[in-house]
Amino acid sequence: MDLWKRITDSRVLSALKRVDRERFVPENVRQFASENRPLPIGFHQTISQPFIVAFMTQALSLTGGERVLEIGTGSGFQTAVLAELGVSVFSVERIPELHARASHALTLCGYQNMHLLCGDGYQGWASEAPFDAILVTAAPSSLPHALVEQLAEGGRLVIPLADRQARSAGEILMRFTKRGGVAESEELLPVRFVPMVHGDARANESCETEGSEREQDEDKGAEDREEE
Ligand code: SAH
Repeated sequence: MDLWKRITDSRVLSALKRVDRERFVPENVRQFASENRPLPIGFHQTISQPFIVAFMTQALSLTGGERVLEIGTGSGFQTAVLAELGVSVFSVERIPELHARASHALTLCGYQNMHLLCGDGYQGWASEAPFDAILVTAAPSSLPHALVEQLAEGGRLVIPLADRQARSAGEILMRFTKRGGVAESEELLPVRFVPMVHGDARANESCETEGSEREQDEDKGAEDREEE
């Protein structure tokens, strides 16, 4: 079945078309930017495959004007797609170098409606809460409480969580909708994401010592770790 048939929201499809993925990937993989697959962006991380970006964005049911929190800015590509949808985007990334790179790429695109923070997404972004929608692009060990708390009534939280029934080695993309203060869950799609790591990476020496040679070696592994 053609995966793309599952993307029925034409606003999401046209937002995706307006963002040039080449601007968000490192030079060594730029030739693959138009392919529907995840690509390494350094620091063991990957830019999601375009279909997954579209699927997750669609699952948030945005109409424009909402406040949206993204956890895991990564390359900034998903952030750009959200910005194109006319929402206010608040995006958190724990690795300072990726935060800086994404900030540069997004500023060059000229978006005014986005705000980036370098920090630990497990804490959400309390001073900007509540959010109408929250998108998590790394897989946590369990549902982070702060994110549920920072979700507005009626808000949607889309997040990959470990498959409790172990039907696959990866995660299940889940959607939680907050009704009467309670988060009701739905299973959407089997996926595979990089892990959501506790704490911001500023004190982590592996970021500071990341050399280009080592980075490339590590990226080979990272490629298999993103969504299927
Ligand atoms: N949306 C991104 C996906 C990047 S991969 C894109 O389209 O490019 C997931 C990102 O989540 C990585 O950059 C990783 O560093 C980040 N991440 C992992 N744990 C995190 C945490 N606790 N807080 C914030 N970001 C986190």
